[in-house]
Amino acid sequence: MDCEVIAVGTELLLGQIVDTNSSWIGEQLALAGIDSHHQTKVGDNWSRIEEALQLGIERSDAIIVCGGLGPTQDDITREVIADVVKSDLVLDDVIAERIRGMFRSRGRDMPENNLRQAMVPEGAQTMEQQPGTAPGLVVPVPVSDGDDKVIYAVPGVPYEMKEMILGTVLPDLQRRSGVTSVIESRVLRTWGQSESGLAELLSHRITELETAGNPTLAFLASGVEGIKVRVTAKAATSDEAEEILRQEEDVLRGLLGDLIFAVDEDNMESTVLTLLATEGLTLGAVETTTGGYLAHRLATARNGTEAFSGGVVARGPGILSYLLKGDPAAWQPDEAAMQMARVARGILLSDVGVATTAIEDPGRATDAQPFGTAWLAVSMEGFETVERVTLPGDLERIRQFSVISLLNLLRLHLQGLRP
Ligand code: ATP
Ligand code: MG
Repeated sequence: MDCEVIAVGTELLLGQIVDTNSSWIGEQLALAGIDSHHQTKVGDNWSRIEEALQLGIERSDAIIVCGGLGPTQDDITREVIADVVKSDLVLDDVIAERIRGMFRSRGRDMPENNLRQAMVPEGAQTMEQQPGTAPGLVVPVPVSDGDDKVIYAVPGVPYEMKEMILGTVLPDLQRRSGVTSVIESRVLRTWGQSESGLAELLSHRITELETAGNPTLAFLASGVEGIKVRVTAKAATSDEAEEILRQEEDVLRGLLGDLIFAVDEDNMESTVLTLLATEGLTLGAVETTTGGYLAHRLATARNGTEAFSGGVVARGPGILSYLLKGDPAAWQPDEAAMQMARVARGILLSDVGVATTAIEDPGRATDAQPFGTAWLAVSMEGFETVERVTLPGDLERIRQFSVISLLNLLRLHLQGLRP
């Protein structure tokens, strides 16, 4: 049993509305163990909706169409479906009376247009949940050889759509398919390799998994959050799916090693804070270019531990002279970063001090130290390092990448993965 999703609405194509309905439905189908191989977006156009439905009927067992059930001229989903399944639309008196009643109770007359919402293709059923005016439809599609296929039509309004999907569509799909399998996924978050680099490291494993079909792998480039590798497993029970995920995580860890910094909801800062807390260490930060981004990430981490003592954002000449014990211009940037990391330990009463600084003023950039050159420093008992990196992009990107790169440097050391 597989079910595809068609989202109807010209505004989806124009980018005026993000199609969150399809992604939500996709997630629900996966959780319910129903395969879903296609999602289509189509404008409010008769022939193109018809084409999408015809194609869907050919290649899938079920179709969920969302949007275009409203009362206005451009809402034509209902009519196109009736046409495709060669049914006449007939007025459903009960629905018509319900819609009239909704208007009456608000002291308004019902525009004639709204009666269109009470038209139901012959042979179709309306859904029990009726949060708005438009009823959801379950429309059987007779197939000459084999079981009927089915088209579900639900409104585009997200809360109405969700109520119908959960209340009618998913139970109906599961009943039709008789499947009880579950799909679960796990996200391994990586930092330090490009997407093509990861693909190369995993190429052999990817080929193996493609042959086996289960679990599956997907890459998701997430900018400053790194590249996510999502493993998805299908099994008869949740326990079995978990076991597949656990084994695959082991395999991937063997191949990717310390590139993996977190799993699922964890991120770089929560990982670093957990590592610090485990060692009983506290962390203080001095920032110049990053202007508090580092402190913000650490202070708002989901596992908010006491391991983060606090931070100083040093911008003015006075504070910089104080931290650097003299004229800031007298320091080389790498030495300045190191000095600030050392000072962070003292003034922030912390076991570990970190500091970031970068060439943020194009006027001060040189060939040797171009715009975007950043220095990341860590100072703690028995370990000090300052790393120079050249970061791409504008100042905003330089700030973001400085922060994540510094946290990653600290993470690698804390994990004992770096000498
Ligand atoms: P209505 O009876 O309210 O007109 P409808 O079935 O005609 O419902 P649409 O007109 O297509 O639905 O969409 C109504 C509203 O629902 C849109 O303005 C938009 O806010 C939201 N919406 C529609 N489709 C989607 C989608 N795919 N993802 C997220 N939101 C959507
Ligand atoms: Mg509408």
